[in-house]
Amino acid sequence: MVDYASMYKVNCGLFLAATTWEGRKNGCVINTVLQVTYEPLKCIAVIEKKNLTHDMVMQSKTMGISVFSEEVSLSQIGRFGFASGREQDKFDGVEYTEDQRGNPLLTQGVSAVLTLEVEQTVDVGTHTIFVCAVTEARTVSDVPAITYQQYRDKKLNNQKAQQEQEDGGVYLCTICKYEYSEAKEGVPFDELPDDWVCPICGQPKSVFKKIR
Ligand code: FE
Repeated sequence: MVDYASMYKVNCGLFLAATTWEGRKNGCVINTVLQVTYEPLKCIAVIEKKNLTHDMVMQSKTMGISVFSEEVSLSQIGRFGFASGREQDKFDGVEYTEDQRGNPLLTQGVSAVLTLEVEQTVDVGTHTIFVCAVTEARTVSDVPAITYQQYRDKKLNNQKAQQEQEDGGVYLCTICKYEYSEAKEGVPFDELPDDWVCPICGQPKSVFKKIR
């Protein structure tokens, strides 16, 4: 039996892999960059074949890795993770620098940046493992790198907050514990008339506190 959820216990990170080929820049979000040797310094990076970045790295034989930090915003990840570089320039309006190979490196929401030179590729079906030499590496910020687990939690919390906003707030009468639900009543709490009182204990709006 294979419980796929078990794989969430295996730590991964979150990175932008980006390159330039024939004057065009592109990047995609990946979760696997691993250091494999120290002397000389080598890393592997794994990219899904269906990404345009994959085909471009196959040609350019180099990539810039931006290591996302705990401060990265979901929109920053979403921009590179979910939009396709085939239809739009993902770097349009994004702050970045370039390494000596012309690979774009992010300047915001990242802990470190690396330049990788591809030495070998391993075809693993849906993905390619790029075995690379690290030719440049720089720490950008003291903020720790985000783990894939932290990113998933961030995304789930965001979805929950969004759902609650759509559902409307809930206000608790601190006297009798009656809960006023905006979704159920169809009227935002703030729009209730000033003389509105708790339907249970008759206390004014001022004794209510927002709990959700
Ligand atoms: Fe009450």
